[in-house]
Amino acid sequence: MNTNLTATSLKAKLQPFIKGEIDDTDTSRELYSHDASLFELRPQVIVAPKDVDDVKNIVKFVNKHKKSTPSLYITARSAGTDMSGGAIGESIMVDFTKHFNQVERVSATSANVQPGVHYRDFEPETLKHKAWMPSFPASRELCTVGGMVANNSGGEMSLRYGKTINFVNELRVVLSDGKEYAFSPINKTELKTKMAQKDFEGELYRRVFKLVDSHYDKIKAAKPHVSKNSTGYNLWDVWDKEKGVFDMTKVIVGSQGTLGLITDIKYRLAAKEPYGGVLVCFMKNMEGLGDIINTVMTQHPTSFESFDNYTLNLSIKFLPYFRYNLGWKGLIKLGLQLVPDALILLKGIPKLILLVEFTGQTQEEVSSKLRATRALLQHFNLQAMEEEETEAKAWKFRIMRRESFNLLRKKVKDKHTAPFIDDLVVPPKHLPKFLPELRAIVNKYKLQATVAGHMGDGNFHIIPLMKIEDPKERAKLEPAMREVNTLVLKYGGSLSGEHNDGLIRGPWLTRMYGSEVVGYFKELKKIFDPDNIFNPHIKATADWDFSMSHIRQRF
Ligand SMILES: Cc1cc2nc3c(=O)[nH]c(=O)nc-3n(C[C@H](O)[C@H](O)[C@H](O)COP(=O)(O)OP(=O)(O)OC[C@H]3O[C@@H](n4cnc5c(N)ncnc54)[C@H](O)[C@@H]3O)c2cc1C
Repeated sequence: MNTNLTATSLKAKLQPFIKGEIDDTDTSRELYSHDASLFELRPQVIVAPKDVDDVKNIVKFVNKHKKSTPSLYITARSAGTDMSGGAIGESIMVDFTKHFNQVERVSATSANVQPGVHYRDFEPETLKHKAWMPSFPASRELCTVGGMVANNSGGEMSLRYGKTINFVNELRVVLSDGKEYAFSPINKTELKTKMAQKDFEGELYRRVFKLVDSHYDKIKAAKPHVSKNSTGYNLWDVWDKEKGVFDMTKVIVGSQGTLGLITDIKYRLAAKEPYGGVLVCFMKNMEGLGDIINTVMTQHPTSFESFDNYTLNLSIKFLPYFRYNLGWKGLIKLGLQLVPDALILLKGIPKLILLVEFTGQTQEEVSSKLRATRALLQHFNLQAMEEEETEAKAWKFRIMRRESFNLLRKKVKDKHTAPFIDDLVVPPKHLPKFLPELRAIVNKYKLQATVAGHMGDGNFHIIPLMKIEDPKERAKLEPAMREVNTLVLKYGGSLSGEHNDGLIRGPWLTRMYGSEVVGYFKELKKIFDPDNIFNPHIKATADWDFSMSHIRQRF
């Protein structure tokens, strides 16, 4: 890497400006050179800012030295579970988990929280108020709330509640001028006042307003017609002419640390319904899937998840693995709960397992929804159905669905997870045609892949296992991705519902949106970050050759 500041000199020069720790040891640089993607970028230093002043000073330091050291930049990192390569970088890594880890205030309707708080620590606090932030991802035991905002994450509950973007009331962010700003929805009068300011913030509001107002119809029309999307910047949600509301948080959510560093979050919370149950449907083949989806959706389930026979096989093969999450007691409980299902599985492994979840204020309400849906599905092509009338009973299948990617990452040692077609979304009505065509491409490239996902949103996670260090295997990435992406766009879908662009999908944004809209994304990035100091290699400024030259070599 061409830089005038080596890791050692960078640490020595930066340390006097900040109170937090700076780590330049080889062990840490190695650890932070990976996230959950198939890429690697080795940072020079990992900085753990102590407070907002530290964050501001890191940005000011980069601004000061950027001319003499053009390769200097900042990558924000929280738990580092990003699957797209968004949480790795070759320069300064800013780790929010060490000191930005306070749940500051929680009520039944909202919460203030720092970005480095793990979701697993946040949820128990909100549940004390019978409330939650229901857009949690399958990585809920690993990820932070800051990463969820920066990726606009979603998960099993997004069918009912939407994604993280729906739950952000206010954000505090350190921008490229090294100052912290608060962003929340504002009305026309407030917008006018902001635009009249003669400072960086005033310029920011003037230029973003001009961008979204002068291309209003084009930008609104660019919004993907799917129920969840994490590609590009959410420009279409910033300015609502009719309501006169201007909301800058909409582009910061999902921006993967490319516009600034999030230092504080005010979340809206949803009331958690106290009762839940799941109808588990085992399908022997895909016949009639479209009608099944349509029928289930008429019942308005809270979540509607699925996983395939490969995922099920994997979970059964590595059942003891669940001990790490569940403990011995939990593992035994899981094993015992699966005994009745063994009878169903003995008749042949189902091709697809559907989990249809209902929640409600009483157990009776949940049970009657389960019974009604079961009755409607009685005459469809199903191998079996099983009602799990409580959340506790449904847990055995949910854990398989949530843990499938982690299982692959940890357990299959001779090959590695290669997330590159890992987050496709198409309108669910197209799934019966889309899924077999998708499987044909997966088979054509001999990709050994599990398929799991959010059936109700038409959002699928395809995780191939590959020997990615083998050039022959690596050569499959581009053509397979081209075919899959073409298929997704043919059915009016999006290349990512939850996992965002990062290094892997950033280079495909033009294919999805066209060059004019990507031009708007690039302009937004320039307005916020004129010198490209925040995560410069991802999203709208990503480059395929750069990404491909950083495929992970070490495992
Ligand atoms: C097993 C597994 C399952 C997963 N399942 C899902 C899923 O169901 N749904 C889903 O949406 N995702 C999923 N993911 C991806 C990932 O876990 C989520 O996107 C998660 O929300 C990222 O959180 P994190 O704390 O790990 O963020 P990180 O990986 O640390 O960062 C994510 C992005 O946010 C940026 N960032 C982090 N902190 C800040 C900050 N303070 N300011 C500005 N930018 C910041 C980073 O630069 C990066 O671009 C999964 C990952 C794994 C490993």
